[in-house]
Amino acid sequence: MSVIIIPKSRNSSLSHQKPSSSSQNCLIQNHRFTYTVTQKSVKNITLTLISKRRFRVSCPRRTTQASIDKFIAQYSGWIYNHSRQLRPRRSLFKLSRLRILDTSYRLNFISASRDSVVLLPKDCSINVQSATTSQPHLKKLLEKYLIRHARALINQHLQELKAQYGFKYRRVSLRNQSSRFGSCSHLSNLNFNWQIIFLPTDKFRHILLHELTHLDIKNHSAAFWQQLSVYDPHCAINRRWVRRQASSHFLF
Ligand SMILES: [Zn+2]
Repeated sequence: MSVIIIPKSRNSSLSHQKPSSSSQNCLIQNHRFTYTVTQKSVKNITLTLISKRRFRVSCPRRTTQASIDKFIAQYSGWIYNHSRQLRPRRSLFKLSRLRILDTSYRLNFISASRDSVVLLPKDCSINVQSATTSQPHLKKLLEKYLIRHARALINQHLQELKAQYGFKYRRVSLRNQSSRFGSCSHLSNLNFNWQIIFLPTDKFRHILLHELTHLDIKNHSAAFWQQLSVYDPHCAINRRWVRRQASSHFLF
Protein backbone atom coordinates (compact mmCIF):
# COMPACT_ATOMS: atom_id res chain seq x y z
CA MET A 1 0.00 0.00 0.00
CA SER A 2 2.90 2.28 -0.77
CA VAL A 3 2.57 5.43 -2.83
CA ILE A 4 5.39 4.44 -5.12
CA ILE A 5 4.05 1.21 -6.51
CA ILE A 6 1.04 2.52 -8.42
CA PRO A 7 1.92 2.98 -12.09
CA LYS A 8 1.18 6.36 -13.69
CA SER A 9 -1.88 6.77 -15.84
CA ARG A 10 -1.16 7.53 -19.47
CA ASN A 11 -3.71 10.25 -20.05
CA SER A 12 -2.99 12.50 -17.09
CA SER A 13 -2.11 16.07 -17.86
CA LEU A 14 -0.23 18.35 -15.53
CA SER A 15 0.78 21.96 -15.66
CA HIS A 16 2.52 24.06 -13.05
CA GLN A 17 1.88 27.50 -11.71
CA LYS A 18 4.28 29.86 -9.96
CA PRO A 19 5.11 28.57 -6.47
CA SER A 20 3.98 30.60 -3.45
CA SER A 21 6.20 31.03 -0.41
CA SER A 22 5.53 27.81 1.53
CA SER A 23 3.12 25.73 -0.50
CA GLN A 24 2.86 25.35 -4.23
CA ASN A 25 0.05 24.67 -6.65
CA CYS A 26 -0.23 22.46 -9.65
CA LEU A 27 -3.02 21.43 -11.98
CA ILE A 28 -3.73 17.77 -12.47
CA GLN A 29 -6.52 16.88 -14.89
CA ASN A 30 -7.70 20.50 -14.55
CA HIS A 31 -7.97 20.25 -10.77
CA ARG A 32 -5.86 22.51 -8.59
CA PHE A 33 -3.75 20.69 -6.01
CA THR A 34 -1.69 22.30 -3.26
CA TYR A 35 1.48 20.64 -2.12
CA THR A 36 4.35 21.23 0.26
CA VAL A 37 7.93 20.08 -0.24
CA THR A 38 10.05 18.90 2.68
CA GLN A 39 13.73 18.32 2.05
CA LYS A 40 15.34 15.96 4.51
CA SER A 41 17.91 13.18 4.89
CA VAL A 42 16.12 10.57 2.81
CA LYS A 43 17.24 8.62 -0.25
CA ASN A 44 14.12 8.80 -2.42
CA ILE A 45 11.37 11.21 -3.30
CA THR A 46 8.05 10.13 -1.78
CA LEU A 47 4.59 11.53 -2.04
CA THR A 48 1.76 11.44 0.52
CA LEU A 49 -1.83 12.40 -0.20
CA ILE A 50 -3.04 14.40 2.81
CA SER A 51 -6.57 15.30 1.73
CA LYS A 52 -8.64 15.52 -1.44
CA ARG A 53 -6.61 18.36 -2.96
CA ARG A 54 -3.42 18.40 -0.87
CA PHE A 55 -0.30 16.32 -0.90
CA ARG A 56 3.18 16.42 0.54
CA VAL A 57 6.46 15.65 -1.22
CA SER A 58 9.46 14.51 0.83
CA CYS A 59 12.78 14.48 -0.97
CA PRO A 60 16.53 14.36 -0.38
CA ARG A 61 18.23 17.68 0.34
CA ARG A 62 19.24 19.65 -2.75
CA THR A 63 16.60 18.01 -4.96
CA THR A 64 15.89 20.44 -7.77
CA GLN A 65 12.41 21.79 -8.53
CA ALA A 66 12.74 20.21 -11.98
CA SER A 67 13.17 16.75 -10.41
CA ILE A 68 10.19 17.36 -8.12
CA ASP A 69 8.06 18.50 -11.10
CA LYS A 70 9.10 15.40 -13.01
CA PHE A 71 8.21 13.17 -10.05
CA ILE A 72 4.78 14.78 -9.63
CA ALA A 73 4.14 14.47 -13.37
CA GLN A 74 5.08 10.81 -13.25
CA TYR A 75 2.66 10.13 -10.37
CA SER A 76 -0.06 12.57 -11.43
CA GLY A 77 -2.31 9.68 -12.46
CA TRP A 78 -1.92 8.10 -9.04
CA ILE A 79 -2.57 11.43 -7.27
CA TYR A 80 -5.70 12.10 -9.32
CA ASN A 81 -7.17 8.61 -9.03
CA HIS A 82 -6.58 8.36 -5.29
CA SER A 83 -7.83 11.87 -4.56
CA ARG A 84 -11.12 10.95 -6.29
CA GLN A 85 -11.55 8.08 -3.86
CA LEU A 86 -11.19 10.35 -0.83
CA ARG A 87 -14.54 11.59 0.31
CA PRO A 88 -15.14 14.59 2.57
CA ARG A 89 -14.93 13.57 6.22
CA ARG A 90 -18.23 12.90 7.97
CA SER A 91 -18.97 15.34 10.77
CA LEU A 92 -18.46 13.67 14.10
CA PHE A 93 -21.23 15.73 15.66
CA LYS A 94 -23.83 14.51 13.20
CA LEU A 95 -23.14 10.93 14.21
CA SER A 96 -25.23 9.31 16.89
CA ARG A 97 -23.22 6.09 16.69
CA LEU A 98 -19.57 5.29 16.17
CA ARG A 99 -18.56 1.95 14.74
CA ILE A 100 -15.29 0.44 15.97
CA LEU A 101 -14.49 -2.87 14.27
CA ASP A 102 -17.74 -4.83 14.41
CA THR A 103 -19.27 -2.99 17.38
CA SER A 104 -21.50 0.04 17.02
CA TYR A 105 -21.26 2.44 20.00
CA ARG A 106 -23.75 5.13 20.94
CA LEU A 107 -21.85 8.41 21.07
CA ASN A 108 -22.91 10.71 23.93
CA PHE A 109 -21.59 14.23 24.50
CA ILE A 110 -22.23 15.05 28.15
CA SER A 111 -21.75 18.26 30.10
CA ALA A 112 -19.43 17.70 33.09
CA SER A 113 -16.98 19.63 35.25
CA ARG A 114 -13.94 17.68 33.98
CA ASP A 115 -12.82 16.32 30.61
CA SER A 116 -13.06 12.57 30.23
CA VAL A 117 -13.94 9.88 27.72
CA VAL A 118 -15.42 6.63 28.93
CA LEU A 119 -16.16 3.59 26.79
CA LEU A 120 -18.80 1.32 28.32
CA PRO A 121 -18.50 -2.06 26.56
CA LYS A 122 -21.68 -3.59 28.03
CA ASP A 123 -23.67 -0.49 27.19
CA CYS A 124 -22.07 -0.18 23.76
CA SER A 125 -21.64 3.53 24.37
CA ILE A 126 -18.88 6.12 24.48
CA ASN A 127 -19.41 9.10 26.79
CA VAL A 128 -17.44 12.24 25.97
CA GLN A 129 -17.67 14.48 29.03
CA SER A 130 -16.49 18.08 29.18
CA ALA A 131 -17.35 21.51 30.58
CA THR A 132 -17.05 23.01 27.11
CA THR A 133 -19.26 22.56 24.08
CA SER A 134 -16.49 23.65 21.70
CA GLN A 135 -16.56 21.11 18.88
CA PRO A 136 -12.80 21.27 18.09
CA HIS A 137 -12.05 20.66 21.78
CA LEU A 138 -14.47 17.72 22.03
CA LYS A 139 -13.13 16.26 18.82
CA LYS A 140 -9.54 16.50 20.09
CA LEU A 141 -10.55 14.92 23.40
CA LEU A 142 -12.24 11.99 21.67
CA GLU A 143 -9.40 11.61 19.17
CA LYS A 144 -6.84 11.35 21.97
CA TYR A 145 -8.86 8.62 23.63
CA LEU A 146 -9.49 6.73 20.37
CA ILE A 147 -5.79 6.73 19.41
CA ARG A 148 -5.06 5.00 22.75
CA HIS A 149 -7.91 2.58 22.12
CA ALA A 150 -6.63 1.94 18.56
CA ARG A 151 -3.17 1.13 19.89
CA ALA A 152 -4.64 -1.46 22.26
CA LEU A 153 -6.86 -3.00 19.56
CA ILE A 154 -4.11 -3.13 16.92
CA ASN A 155 -1.64 -4.67 19.39
CA GLN A 156 -4.22 -7.21 20.56
CA HIS A 157 -4.99 -8.36 16.99
CA LEU A 158 -1.29 -8.40 16.06
CA GLN A 159 -0.58 -10.60 19.08
CA GLU A 160 -3.36 -12.99 18.03
CA LEU A 161 -2.00 -13.19 14.47
CA LYS A 162 1.54 -13.61 15.79
CA ALA A 163 0.41 -16.51 18.00
CA GLN A 164 -1.44 -18.08 15.06
CA TYR A 165 1.21 -17.69 12.33
CA GLY A 166 4.47 -16.91 14.15
CA PHE A 167 5.11 -13.45 12.66
CA LYS A 168 8.20 -11.67 13.98
CA TYR A 169 7.95 -7.87 13.97
CA ARG A 170 9.67 -5.20 16.03
CA ARG A 171 8.11 -1.80 16.73
CA VAL A 172 4.49 -0.87 16.00
CA SER A 173 3.76 2.82 15.35
CA LEU A 174 0.50 4.57 14.62
CA ARG A 175 0.12 7.31 12.01
CA ASN A 176 -2.69 9.26 10.44
CA GLN A 177 -2.39 9.57 6.66
CA SER A 178 -5.47 9.60 4.46
CA SER A 179 -3.95 7.61 1.64
CA ARG A 180 -2.00 5.04 3.60
CA PHE A 181 -3.35 2.31 5.80
CA GLY A 182 -0.10 0.67 6.82
CA SER A 183 3.52 0.03 5.99
CA CYS A 184 6.31 -2.33 6.92
CA SER A 185 9.92 -1.15 7.07
CA HIS A 186 13.05 -3.09 6.11
CA LEU A 187 13.81 -3.28 9.85
CA SER A 188 10.50 -5.12 10.40
CA ASN A 189 8.83 -2.15 12.07
CA LEU A 190 5.12 -1.83 11.36
CA ASN A 191 3.13 1.39 10.88
CA PHE A 192 -0.63 1.60 10.81
CA ASN A 193 -3.12 4.37 10.29
CA TRP A 194 -4.90 4.33 13.67
CA GLN A 195 -8.26 5.03 11.96
CA ILE A 196 -8.38 1.51 10.53
CA ILE A 197 -10.28 0.67 13.75
CA PHE A 198 -13.33 2.30 12.08
CA LEU A 199 -13.37 -0.49 9.46
CA PRO A 200 -15.19 -3.81 9.83
CA THR A 201 -13.00 -6.40 11.59
CA ASP A 202 -12.28 -8.52 8.48
CA LYS A 203 -11.05 -5.44 6.54
CA PHE A 204 -9.02 -4.26 9.56
CA ARG A 205 -7.35 -7.67 9.86
CA HIS A 206 -6.73 -7.74 6.10
CA ILE A 207 -4.66 -4.54 6.50
CA LEU A 208 -2.73 -6.02 9.44
CA LEU A 209 -2.08 -9.22 7.47
CA HIS A 210 -0.96 -7.27 4.39
CA GLU A 211 1.80 -5.58 6.40
CA LEU A 212 2.65 -8.75 8.33
CA THR A 213 3.11 -10.57 5.00
CA HIS A 214 5.63 -7.86 4.04
CA LEU A 215 7.85 -9.05 6.92
CA ASP A 216 8.86 -11.95 4.66
CA ILE A 217 8.11 -10.58 1.19
CA LYS A 218 8.87 -6.88 0.78
CA ASN A 219 7.39 -6.45 -2.71
CA HIS A 220 3.95 -7.00 -4.24
CA SER A 221 4.96 -10.00 -6.35
CA ALA A 222 2.70 -12.95 -7.16
CA ALA A 223 4.35 -14.76 -4.24
CA PHE A 224 3.24 -11.96 -1.90
CA TRP A 225 -0.46 -12.17 -2.93
CA GLN A 226 -0.30 -15.95 -2.81
CA GLN A 227 1.03 -15.84 0.76
CA LEU A 228 -1.47 -13.16 1.84
CA SER A 229 -4.36 -15.24 0.52
CA VAL A 230 -3.19 -18.11 2.72
CA TYR A 231 -3.65 -15.83 5.75
CA ASP A 232 -6.76 -14.11 4.38
CA PRO A 233 -8.87 -16.37 2.11
CA HIS A 234 -11.01 -13.34 1.12
CA CYS A 235 -7.92 -11.37 0.18
CA ALA A 236 -9.11 -10.15 -3.26
CA ILE A 237 -12.53 -8.96 -2.02
CA ASN A 238 -11.07 -7.31 1.08
CA ARG A 239 -8.30 -5.64 -0.89
CA ARG A 240 -10.78 -4.14 -3.37
CA TRP A 241 -13.04 -2.96 -0.53
CA VAL A 242 -10.14 -1.34 1.34
CA ARG A 243 -8.91 0.45 -1.77
CA ARG A 244 -12.34 1.81 -2.65
CA GLN A 245 -14.04 2.43 0.66
CA ALA A 246 -11.70 2.43 3.63
CA SER A 247 -10.82 6.14 3.67
CA SER A 248 -14.50 7.14 3.66
CA HIS A 249 -14.76 5.56 7.13
CA PHE A 250 -12.14 7.86 8.60
CA LEU A 251 -13.37 10.62 10.89
CA PHE A 252 -10.29 12.58 11.94
ZN1 LIG B 1 2.09 -3.61 0.49
